[in-house]
Amino acid sequence: QSHDERALRIPRYVRVNTLLWSTDEAAKAFVSRGYVDIDPFENPKGFKRDAHVPDLLLFNPSARLQDDELYKSGKIILQDKASCFPALVLAPPSSEHARVIDATSAPGNKTSHLSALMKGKGKLHAFERDRKRFSTLKMMLSKASCRNVEPINDDFLSVSPEDPRYAGVTHILLDPSCSGSGIVNRLDHLLETEEDDADDRQERLAKLAAFQLSMIKHAMKFPSAKRIVYSTCSMHATENEHVVREALRSEEAANSGFRLASRQDVLPQWPRRGLPQEMDDPEDADSVIRCSPGEDATNGFFVSCFVKETKSSGKKR
Ligand code: SAM
Repeated sequence: QSHDERALRIPRYVRVNTLLWSTDEAAKAFVSRGYVDIDPFENPKGFKRDAHVPDLLLFNPSARLQDDELYKSGKIILQDKASCFPALVLAPPSSEHARVIDATSAPGNKTSHLSALMKGKGKLHAFERDRKRFSTLKMMLSKASCRNVEPINDDFLSVSPEDPRYAGVTHILLDPSCSGSGIVNRLDHLLETEEDDADDRQERLAKLAAFQLSMIKHAMKFPSAKRIVYSTCSMHATENEHVVREALRSEEAANSGFRLASRQDVLPQWPRRGLPQEMDDPEDADSVIRCSPGEDATNGFFVSCFVKETKSSGKKR
């Protein structure tokens, strides 16, 4: 199967921006545009609600929604299903006291999803190191009316975990740069990956994995952090299970008490889990999520979640 054939089998996913309106209202607006509530693969004008992600709608891959006023006004966000999983798994609180970090934000799809799950309350500190991508992020946040987000043009690794501004941060999303090897849908590819300029793939993967691991270890040092989600749009175990394995073995995990969340806490209804042979404890694979391009009607993706040990959370050893 070529990339194009696989991409053709991925529906066009639309996340309703619940900061601006409800999914019922959005469904009515689509009906008034001539769309019908039937399987989008049987009819090019069909649309359906997604079975796993609330407020996500599926359309035929040919649907040209990027020209629609609803997209231009930020009321809908074009976001692949798998890339909605990280914010869902992080499950940020939605109170005035909520404090959350998105460490790697641009272009901002997951940031606006987090903001919506927080119902626009509390504060979401959104870091982005790249200046150009930071401008895109700011545009996206204003279009989507994310009023509880503070965009910060800085390197997350240079932020001191002792900085009093982040003393209350309990939830951290890490969706760092990766090889992008899971992306088969061309539009999302343009949005979600960076330039591929390294010669040697293995060396590049090893460098990416070292950087990804340093982001997790850094996040574990924030004193109030109790839930960290790490995700990639890569299919390589080097960037996924191996990074998680190293993070669990790290001094930072031992010092902070972070361990993997249990399966019940990480979209338990999603059937495709991690690769057991790539973890120290094969059972740990059950705690993480994989999405297989084409097979799962999504792009390729990986999601893991670390929690600080309390009586009820965390995987028993
Ligand atoms: N979460 C984004 C979304 O859903 O729209 C996609 C994030 S993209 C995979 C990774 C982003 O992290 C890139 O924009 C990159 O510039 C940024 N980045 C990489 N390293 C960073 C760091 N140390 N601090 C802050 N941002 C970083």
